[in-house]
Amino acid sequence: MVLVFAEQRDAALRKVAFESLLVGYKIAQKKSDELAAAILGSKVGNLAQGIVKFGVNKVLTVDDPGLEHYTPDGYAGAMIQLANQHQADFIVLSATATGKDLAATLAARLETQLLQDCISIDFDENGAIEVVRPIYAGKALSKVKAPDARPLVIAMRPRAVDQLQETGTQAQVIAADVKPARLRSRVAEIVRAVVETVELTEADIIVSGGRGMKGPENYAMLEQLAKVINAAVGASRAAVDAGWRDHQDQVGQTGKVVAPSLYIACGISGAIQHLVGMTNSKCIVAVNKDSEANIFRVADYGIVGDLFKVVPLLTEEFRKLKQE
Ligand SMILES: Cc1cc2nc3c(=O)[nH]c(=O)nc-3n(C[C@H](O)[C@H](O)[C@H](O)COP(=O)(O)OP(=O)(O)OC[C@H]3O[C@@H](n4cnc5c(N)ncnc54)[C@H](O)[C@@H]3O)c2cc1C
Repeated sequence: MVLVFAEQRDAALRKVAFESLLVGYKIAQKKSDELAAAILGSKVGNLAQGIVKFGVNKVLTVDDPGLEHYTPDGYAGAMIQLANQHQADFIVLSATATGKDLAATLAARLETQLLQDCISIDFDENGAIEVVRPIYAGKALSKVKAPDARPLVIAMRPRAVDQLQETGTQAQVIAADVKPARLRSRVAEIVRAVVETVELTEADIIVSGGRGMKGPENYAMLEQLAKVINAAVGASRAAVDAGWRDHQDQVGQTGKVVAPSLYIACGISGAIQHLVGMTNSKCIVAVNKDSEANIFRVADYGIVGDLFKVVPLLTEEFRKLKQE
């Protein structure tokens, strides 16, 4: 069986759940195996209906107040029981903050191998899974396979693959019989920043600002642009370190790794630690007044100019396009 961790947040399935399902679906097709989706959480039973038509054979729900918030003990405990009950050969997750932690915990406790933060997946001539994952902070790509590891744990980088679409088949929904794990850690409180736009790692478009923004007040300009094109707002570390933006907005090696369809970098020089977090974007637009800035090396489109003039113009043009 191929077991997919269908990640939810606040009792709603995340987009990455459908990316993981696509990977699981491909593996199941190749191996002529069954595909199951696991939904863990509290009051999440009804989420199964969101998956039943997505080519899975079974949707396994684990509804437990102890799983309201992610804890490694709670989630790994439940996933291991599911993996054992259903003899999972492959466990697929998304390499989100939760998914990375869970994948590593699962692999350690199941004493198996983990293919972490993969950006593509294929099969070799013997049908073994072969993944590509960035190494050395994205400076190189490595092809990895673990043909004998079972269950093999695979965590895919968010937005590296498409989402699975409905196939029309109807899955069986099973309330899984899983014993609650003894939790050694407890989530006391979740402090959320008020995010009015889209979550960074799930955003299809990101507008990012760096030190060139000159101050926190100028991000209002990026937020306006973001609002018009339904984008999330990101930042470089320089902007975060200066206290202009929250750390959760940081893109890069010590921030978030993103891969939107469109990444607009404004006043960002393109240091390697920033590039690591965004070079997998499908289209990169850079606005910088320095024509020699490193960001132009990775940009598909470069605008050499003062962002304080360019960004309002872009906003205006996008607004006009939307009105047409
Ligand atoms: C261990 C480590 C981890 C790191 N992790 C990260 C990370 O996760 N993310 C990250 O971003 N960085 C990270 N950094 C920092 C990184 O090395 C850079 O210092 C940082 O990315 C620079 O941010 P910046 O491009 O905004 O600033 P700068 O390098 O100062 O660039 C500002 C740019 O704005 C342009 N500019 C200025 N005014 C205007 C204007 N009016 N119009 C248009 N352009 C203008 C300038 O030409 C310049 O290119 C890390 C560093 C280390 C050592």
